[in-house]
Amino acid sequence: MSTNSESKNPYTIQTEPFYLATGGEIELFEAASTACLPVMLKGPTGCGKTRFVEHMAYRLKRPLITVACHEDLFASDLIGRYLLKDDETVWVDGPLTRAVRMGAICYLDEIVEARKDTTVVIHPLTDNRRSLSIDKKGEVIRAHPDFLMVISYNPGYQSVLKDLKQSTRQRFVALTFDYPQPEDEARIVATEGQIDPDTAMRLVTLASKIRNIREQGLTEGASTRLLIYAANLIGSGIAFKRACTAALCQPLTDDDRLQETLNDLIDDLV
Ligand code: ADP
Repeated sequence: MSTNSESKNPYTIQTEPFYLATGGEIELFEAASTACLPVMLKGPTGCGKTRFVEHMAYRLKRPLITVACHEDLFASDLIGRYLLKDDETVWVDGPLTRAVRMGAICYLDEIVEARKDTTVVIHPLTDNRRSLSIDKKGEVIRAHPDFLMVISYNPGYQSVLKDLKQSTRQRFVALTFDYPQPEDEARIVATEGQIDPDTAMRLVTLASKIRNIREQGLTEGASTRLLIYAANLIGSGIAFKRACTAALCQPLTDDDRLQETLNDLIDDLV
């Protein structure tokens, strides 16, 4: 692909997204991409999965098409549909079809949220057929050699009703993500939140404490994303305690008792 066509592609990432590697994930992803193996990113929300895919798309010089899956997402939303235009019906490719044709990375974020009929579409693309069937057009497309399917999945949210079937999960190489080690996370928060290293470390210390009280009823601990939000608020002049309450405590739970516990954790740090 020429540099010129890459720069014109709206799905090409032009500047390198900052990503701090936390343990061999870059090499593994590169190997999976060379071998055309689909990749599953597992881990809690806000711990760097999306940023990682963006970084890898930039590194591998591949366009990236991201779909945030939700409970009303049907296979046709991924594949495409006929639309009426000036009294004519025209076919419009969906994001997955576009990625399959152009050789992009297709990132299906929170795949378990999507309707079950999407798995029918994904399966032939994630085994050695590497093909996409567009029933409405009677067309079967062979995936471009650079096409790569990446899905993300948060095991913490899953229930009996919403889980990935073995027949789906056993088509992917899995990379497990978690919140980075404290020093790494502080570096990320300082860089992304544009805040001094000491304040970043205080936020990370607070996050570790919050993550430790998960067994008291929190569904999930404070994410790296929320720590960056707190840093952003502090950078805009909000006091540490107020910023932590707004960005770290209140979004996590509506339970008054838990809020009190979280506020006590902040008080210990100020
Ligand atoms: P997820 O997709 O897991 O929900 P994101 O990738 O959106 O989470 O991560 C949230 C934010 O945290 C990112 O926008 C980025 O600012 C930051 N982040 C998390 N992990 C890293 C990392 N390893 N390197 C750089 N930034 C990171």
